[in-house]
Amino acid sequence: ANKKPRKPDWLRVKLPVGPEYAKVRKLVDTHKLHTICESGNCPNMGECWGAGTATFMILGNVCTRSCSFCAVATGRPPEYDEDEPRRVAEAVKLMGVKHCVLTSVNRDELKDRGAEIWYQTVRAVKELSPETTIETLIPDVKGNWEALERMISAGQEVVSHNMETVKRLYRPVRPQAKYERSLEQTRRTKALGKRTKSGIMLGLGETPDEVYEAMDDLVAHGLDILTLGQYLQPTKRHIEVAEFIRPEQFERYREEGLKRGLKYVESGPLVRSSYHAERHVNV
Ligand code: SF4
Ligand code: SF4
Repeated sequence: ANKKPRKPDWLRVKLPVGPEYAKVRKLVDTHKLHTICESGNCPNMGECWGAGTATFMILGNVCTRSCSFCAVATGRPPEYDEDEPRRVAEAVKLMGVKHCVLTSVNRDELKDRGAEIWYQTVRAVKELSPETTIETLIPDVKGNWEALERMISAGQEVVSHNMETVKRLYRPVRPQAKYERSLEQTRRTKALGKRTKSGIMLGLGETPDEVYEAMDDLVAHGLDILTLGQYLQPTKRHIEVAEFIRPEQFERYREEGLKRGLKYVESGPLVRSSYHAERHVNV
């Protein structure tokens, strides 16, 4: 059998405790919301929730896709919830954050890919919390560019779409996605005047050259901000970690990304797409 790499010390995190954590917990529950923090088993929950912030996941908690790294349930989602935008906006208001990140599952079965709920949610947050800046981490619209336009024209400050991995690993990691199509989505987002952001998980067996290729492709398609973090296997049924990338290597990637023309690179073992997101608003 092949030897599995052991989880190194630099991935140890704080336990979730404290009054702010409890406040976020209660907000999420009473507003019947979902968070990618929980659905994705994020290691930063102690830190982010402890600081009073969370990333809401809209359009339900059942995804039409089955990415091999992702802990969100796959299946046929129930009817969509037209009251969700209001509840999200209320929860953001009660959290009282200066910046919030919203994301969603993929709703490939909906003609508009969920664009209308996306639009309504961002508008509702802006109405209740006009001072709060918003990042929307949006799904692959599968080439429905009208849906993309609706999704990102609600006044959000940052639009992200994660590449997740390098080109060669799309099939095993993101089977329903296409590398070129995700690049194209970034290009169109930039062309519509948005600040663009993407994320790649490392430790899935990619080589540095493949990471650099992805960086170059992203820069060529108008990307501003890139996040790089260590992939962690959420359960035994998910794709295995091939390698734990050392903190020094993350730092090297950060420097290389800046050299290649990215405006900002957030790179480290525990970095997630929504980690330190408030730093990316004015990039
Ligand atoms: Fe949630 Fe993002 Fe923080 Fe993780 S890094 S706990 S997903 S806000
Ligand atoms: Fe998870 Fe997003 Fe893939 Fe759905 S599309 S399985 S939510 S990573």
